[in-house]
Amino acid sequence: MEINPQMIPSLDDADAYEGNIVEDLRRSSLEPLPEKVILSEEELKELNRNIIVTTLDDAINWAHKASLWPVTCFTACCTFEFIATSMARFDIARFGMEVLRPSPRQADLLMAAGTLSWKMAPQIKRIYEQMAEPKWVVAMGACAISGGIFQDSYAVVPGYNHIIPVDVYIPGCPPRPETLLYGLEQLRNKIGHESIRLENK
Ligand code: SF4
Repeated sequence: MEINPQMIPSLDDADAYEGNIVEDLRRSSLEPLPEKVILSEEELKELNRNIIVTTLDDAINWAHKASLWPVTCFTACCTFEFIATSMARFDIARFGMEVLRPSPRQADLLMAAGTLSWKMAPQIKRIYEQMAEPKWVVAMGACAISGGIFQDSYAVVPGYNHIIPVDVYIPGCPPRPETLLYGLEQLRNKIGHESIRLENK
């Protein structure tokens, strides 16, 4: 390809051209750029979707109520309703509750159901005392609430609330899984209103 010498700018022209570019940039850049980040409308929308403002109480309560780990004290027939509630049809895993803890030190919910004899009562009280704070108790079924049909017996505790504080009572003999789930929902509501500034119990 032949090069036309007329098309090649002289050194002076090239210097002048480059000088003009530099001078234009210098004139338009005498002020520093603003430090404020200007977001586009789309970026602002994205930001709004990714920032959550809440209180410490709400965050802690949400964690508590979404991961209750039960230790069970099931001494009689109500047990089977809890077992049914744990199975796929009712599925308490939806509430993060499927991990039953044989050790009270790893549990924060005592699920109490069935007839409790006075002979067993000290052991139940000890299990409750070994659980770390915060902790909650659910009394499930007539026997746990009041001793049920055995409440007149000399050997039966007329309700768990005689030996440990109970947060939620779930009536029935036995309560069906739907009732149990409703009671657990009441407990979750109660936990949702607790505050680290107040004594819980
Ligand atoms: S409340 Fe009824 S079903 Fe539950 S343990 Fe007592 S007798 Fe059995």
